Amino acid sequence: MRNRENPLEEAVKTALEKLEYLESETIIRYYFMGCSYKEIGEFFNVRSEIIRRKKISGIRKLKYILTPFVERYFGIEVERSTSCPLCRDNRLDKMILGMAPYGPWGKVFRKGRKLKITGLKSVSTIISHYKNHLTIRS
Ligand SMILES: [Zn+2]
Repeated sequence: MRNRENPLEEAVKTALEKLEYLESETIIRYYFMGCSYKEIGEFFNVRSEIIRRKKISGIRKLKYILTPFVERYFGIEVERSTSCPLCRDNRLDKMILGMAPYGPWGKVFRKGRKLKITGLKSVSTIISHYKNHLTIRS
């Protein structure tokens, strides 16, 4: 018989399985095993900058995936960043992170228009998405 787990643990585990391999491995090693970006990077033979980005994108996805659970479990309402068009459609994130923090954002904006990202109205949407949703304060 299988041990009944803590529902919170179970939810996090299930959510982690939905991430890219390197994202979930990074989060497990960084938060649960206390490894540094450098150590994780050396283990997977990738630059620590890549690991840092995988942590950011992984956490952002976890937040999104876990929002409904968190609301039910804790009986609270979580402010959703899904009103941001770039959080709903992450196709520009790699490009944005590649140009951060200075841009030029016009290029990203034109790419977004070409990809027909719904709700992408101006360059400031990109800047605010980068500052508020792609970077994590520690
Ligand atoms: Zn956003």
